[in-house]
Amino acid sequence: MTKIAIIGGGIVGATAAFYLVQTKDNQVTVFDEPHGQATRAAAGIISPWLSKRRNQKWYRLANAGTQLYPQLVIDAQLDQRAYHEVGTLITRKTDVKLDELWQLAQARLQSAPQMKNIVRWSPQKINAELPFFKPDIFAGGVFVTGGARVDGKQLVNQLLRHANVQLVKQHAQIKRQQTQILVNQQPFDQIIIAGGARAPELVQQLGFNLLVRPQKGQLIELADNDLAITGNMPVVMPEGERDIIPVGKHQLMIGATHENDQGFDLTASTQVINDLLKSGQSVITGLTESMITNVRVGTRAYTDDFAPFFGQLPALKNVWIASGLGSSGLTTGPIIAKLMAQSINGENVDLTPFTLPVTNYLSSIDRKA
Ligand SMILES: Cc1cc2nc3c(=O)[nH]c(=O)nc-3n(C[C@H](O)[C@H](O)[C@H](O)COP(=O)(O)OP(=O)(O)OC[C@H]3O[C@@H](n4cnc5c(N)ncnc54)[C@H](O)[C@@H]3O)c2cc1C
Repeated sequence: MTKIAIIGGGIVGATAAFYLVQTKDNQVTVFDEPHGQATRAAAGIISPWLSKRRNQKWYRLANAGTQLYPQLVIDAQLDQRAYHEVGTLITRKTDVKLDELWQLAQARLQSAPQMKNIVRWSPQKINAELPFFKPDIFAGGVFVTGGARVDGKQLVNQLLRHANVQLVKQHAQIKRQQTQILVNQQPFDQIIIAGGARAPELVQQLGFNLLVRPQKGQLIELADNDLAITGNMPVVMPEGERDIIPVGKHQLMIGATHENDQGFDLTASTQVINDLLKSGQSVITGLTESMITNVRVGTRAYTDDFAPFFGQLPALKNVWIASGLGSSGLTTGPIIAKLMAQSINGENVDLTPFTLPVTNYLSSIDRKA
């Protein structure tokens, strides 16, 4: 039996734990101190296909991530609170831009089965389906029927419950002792560092600097009986404004911010709340500050090339790391975790189509300095 420690119980750690237990007789311990966890704060939009990003490894990974979700739902018996295929609507302000988006959607559909169907929505169709929007505010949109919404907190809770692994709600420290690596003084055969934005602190304990930085993200939750919203409505990604996420009867979220200069600060900022509300008010009628019920704040990990990375640490073949998942980590997290779990289980998995080598994101610490 292989003894495996996972440090971090966000989407990467929880999904890795699930696959390691599901596929082999591994003994898995997850160490997690969830303060500031990105997964629990996230908007949870699963719809990478029409993004303007050009990074091909990222797109391949994100597209593979969307295809994995329906299987993960079955395998881990996830319910609709964790993953809900409500569809996503991406809007544009002009007909020209809408034509370009439609062409991109048609091209992407060829190699993205989880998109399922694409439908061009007119302003009238948008008003009929989503009556809470101001009339004719968009030139139209592309509705992707296979887009989904994830609730990160539900997802990790359900995965960890189903995996039935040992969960230690403690801060973990990692230490090299001769040929062994210890986590909180205990030896393990394999270790996964899935600490999100905090991963650099762990990797530093092994003598490396990790080129990963924290990014603060905030979003607001609103509820009001006058909001004509149901939990089956699609997520809307309006051009130039924040995303609108209907989450239940009379409830929605608006977000999220990308703040690169706030370190690990987790305080909700009044100015940001006002900006998010203003963005919502520009497209939705009747939104007021009194409807805000909660502000979510979390810390994402990001890299210089805004790409996630994962694999083994150099010269420490039993230590694995995944970090830098940025603003699409709920989309890429499960597939990253599955690929790592397969590798740890001894399968011959080629990671190169999906990630640059881990060494690209490391620099050694000069211990003599
Ligand atoms: C506001 C916001 C909105 C977002 N919206 C979306 C979205 O719509 N779609 C999408 O795909 N992605 C979205 N994301 C991004 C996504 O949430 C993250 O990329 C992803 O959750 C990162 O997962 P992770 O497992 O790498 O890290 P995390 O979820 O941050 O988990 C890491 C865990 O490790 C723990 N940890 C770290 N060090 C230690 C230690 N030494 N001991 C014990 N525990 C430790 C941390 O406390 C944390 O609980 C959003 C993020 C934010 C913040």
